[in-house]
Amino acid sequence: MKIFNTMTRQKEEFAPIVPGEVKIYTCGPTVYNFIHVGNARPMIMFDVLRRYFEYRGYKVTYVQNFTDVDDKIIRRANEEGISSTEVAEKYIGEYFTDAHGLGVHDASVHPRATENMEQIITLVQTLIEKGYAYASGGDVYYRTMKFEGYGKLSHQPLEDLQAGARIAVGEQKEDPMDFALWKAAKPGEPAWPSPWGMGRPGWHIECSAMSNRYLGKTIDIHCGGMDLQFPHHENEIAQSEAANGCKFVNYWMHNGFLNIDNQKMSKSLGNFFTVREAADAYGYETIRFFMLSAQYRSPLNYSRESLTQAQAALDRLYSAKDNLDFLCKNGEIGDMTDEEQQTVAAFDGFRSRFDDAMDDDLNTADAVGVLFDLVRAINTAVEGKPTKGLAEACRGFMTELTDVLGLLYARKKDDLGEKVEAMIAARQAARKAKNFAEADRIRDELKDMNIELMDTPQGVKWKKI
Ligand code: AMP
Ligand code: ZN
Repeated sequence: MKIFNTMTRQKEEFAPIVPGEVKIYTCGPTVYNFIHVGNARPMIMFDVLRRYFEYRGYKVTYVQNFTDVDDKIIRRANEEGISSTEVAEKYIGEYFTDAHGLGVHDASVHPRATENMEQIITLVQTLIEKGYAYASGGDVYYRTMKFEGYGKLSHQPLEDLQAGARIAVGEQKEDPMDFALWKAAKPGEPAWPSPWGMGRPGWHIECSAMSNRYLGKTIDIHCGGMDLQFPHHENEIAQSEAANGCKFVNYWMHNGFLNIDNQKMSKSLGNFFTVREAADAYGYETIRFFMLSAQYRSPLNYSRESLTQAQAALDRLYSAKDNLDFLCKNGEIGDMTDEEQQTVAAFDGFRSRFDDAMDDDLNTADAVGVLFDLVRAINTAVEGKPTKGLAEACRGFMTELTDVLGLLYARKKDDLGEKVEAMIAARQAARKAKNFAEADRIRDELKDMNIELMDTPQGVKWKKI
């Protein structure tokens, strides 16, 4: 598989540290509010990365943190008159509701900053001992200019970074480029004991501490949105490499922005829709499908049209699947015909095209294209009187690919399906008994439920209109 590595700005062949295993760290949300659709992009795309590695036989360890101590959480807690812990708990719960709705698998570990204080403090101490950090008035800062290669990930000239650096009111830094590893407690803020007095960690240090704890000193892949390249990931590199004396990350993957009217969707600009709002309007799975329709590095525009298109495309996948479900029950009994066997043999071609797309830096846009080519081929192959065997083979193969992308998980055959099928059976029985009044009554009742009936060679099929 080739991965575009932000560090080298090139597509590189992926080679794991331990053969057959992949260690992935993704920066997770700061839990002070509902997530917006932009935040869902890395969640979904790196979930697909993980699923693809698993499909290719790798053992994946996937870590995604929760930033549960931060200025925004403290502000929110003060606004609502509750503790920071309560704010974090609440929005971690809401995060999981959205993540599960979007079909995002839970990480192997979801560590929280507040549960890793010991690791964070030890790391800060190591950086002080090695001369990369200094305590100053209860704060601790990282001596940025001491780290050789600072700026290597974001590829920005040091002078530009220096020109943008500031010392904020209350900070006691040696140099504007330095950043806080530990912040002295202010009244009314959550605080932990440390060698530098009561305080709390800066944002960047938690990811260095947690990736080291759960994945080791060098990890295979580190992911996040492209806005995290600087300063967050640049600072993670400075911290981890200075403390451990070895390379931190082999491959850096950053997703492009989800835009709205060609501007990054963000909380601070106020141009956002929460995932919850978008899911109410279009369904969670439509959001997932919409994200997959673009390669993760390209910009993607959120609009009513693109979401409606995604919904229609997803409907096409579901009707193909429903048709196969029906034919698995009602197809011809007996061995597959020669022609059917040829259809099944041709699946390998689709699989290799699908794998090629995913191997090319996770090109889900092309992979989704292959999936639709497959669906077209399947729809043609099962016209007429297919055997159950063919229907089952088609459904099995289609599911193999949709599972990698994490699609077709939401609309399960539900109570409605069972009810409709029972009504159709009752109507057939009434017709057989020549009770046409009853048969018509059932047909009308189904009509009122927006169910359309179709006679096919395999029996009566139905769909919701
Ligand atoms: P934040 O809560 O802002 O730290 O964001 C959590 C994750 O969502 C990070 O990986 C961000 O890079 C990512 N993210 C935020 N906004 C967008 C956006 N508009 N498009 C894509 N990714 C985003
Ligand atoms: Zn991080």
